[in-house]
Amino acid sequence: MATNLSVNGSRLWDTLMVSASIGTGPRGGLRRLTLTEPDRAMRDQLKAWAAEGGYPLTIDGLGNMVLRREGSEPDLPPVVIGSHLDTQWAGGRFDGILGVLAGLEVLRTLDDLGIATRRSIEVVNWTNEEGARFSPPMLCSLAWSGQATPDWVEGRRDRDGVRFGDALDGIGYRGPEPVGGRAIDAYFELHIEQGPELDAAGVPVGIVTGGFPSLGMRIAVEGATAHTGPTPMRERRNALVGAAMVAVAVNDIGWAHADTDAKATAARLDLVPNLPGTLSEYAELFIDMRAPALDTLNTMKAALLAALPACGERSRTEIRVAEEWGFGVFSFDDGLVELLRDTAGRLGIPTMDLRSQAGHDAYHVARVAPACMIFTPCREGITHNEAEDIDLDATLPGVSVLLHAVLARANR
Ligand SMILES: [Zn+2]
Repeated sequence: MATNLSVNGSRLWDTLMVSASIGTGPRGGLRRLTLTEPDRAMRDQLKAWAAEGGYPLTIDGLGNMVLRREGSEPDLPPVVIGSHLDTQWAGGRFDGILGVLAGLEVLRTLDDLGIATRRSIEVVNWTNEEGARFSPPMLCSLAWSGQATPDWVEGRRDRDGVRFGDALDGIGYRGPEPVGGRAIDAYFELHIEQGPELDAAGVPVGIVTGGFPSLGMRIAVEGATAHTGPTPMRERRNALVGAAMVAVAVNDIGWAHADTDAKATAARLDLVPNLPGTLSEYAELFIDMRAPALDTLNTMKAALLAALPACGERSRTEIRVAEEWGFGVFSFDDGLVELLRDTAGRLGIPTMDLRSQAGHDAYHVARVAPACMIFTPCREGITHNEAEDIDLDATLPGVSVLLHAVLARANR
């Protein structure tokens, strides 16, 4: 293996900064929710970069975008690099964006050096990874990997009731390609760690060995509207109060398992009618729980289900789990994880094994194809926050490992 190939760090940084100018947030980060105008503008930019590099672009029926650098044996299953260009409402400039643009940088570097590969190399931008607009997160890799149908995805609604399918048409990114169903040789995803460990240890590359089993739930609370003034306390059925009790129960469960590094979060509350002067008749609470071990997660889930009736009784509301989803129970490909380790070893790059506590598209891809992930440091572990930041020098070793590992795999 030639160890002297290297990516163009300043070009990668410039590319990241172009992205950082599309859909800027008020505090220097990004607000580029999926299938919104800023997402369309970023997709247009990626399309322009694909055209400039001569990489044919295909788009599937859910807006997943794939750039391709043709190999000398184009019928072989390709090596795929992917992540996502959408962000949270108060998102950072790097997150999954780094993974997509590092993939683009790999293609550009191979072109600079005139290196042909046996297999084609593709770079994918997955639609709606974040789940900030449409639940659940990683929605389109879920469908790509055959775990949900495209029709089901298209019917998901955002908080304003807009259907995913209509939002996709609205930005003009519904493509003709089928969703998934094609063989790929290997999937690589580079992502910032979204935690503090690499930054604190001064280690540039995390080899992701697995994820935290994770559970999401939408909890519905039914009450009744009434006047906040004359309605006697004993008559009230305030859905807001029921939801608040559930939120406290979720938080308590997180604390009860905090020594295992498990977490439980009540993250979003929607109220109807959500007006001063009126008790709410309906509330919806989005929660998530994550734990290092599936047993712990199951114990936490059982504790929540056991707590719901008491919350309902005390608030005189009816509380039920309206929907639930899970991710994080999967395994990355041993061969690819070894390849990442060997590659870093040969390049003299220190690594650390890490388990991901956030969800990633690679989890779903891993169900149907060999997959792996590389983490790079993010400053102080700050993420899903506009202040998210990276250091280019600390990032390039991870991009180098990506380049060399993808190259090795593409010539396999
Ligand atoms: Zn991400």
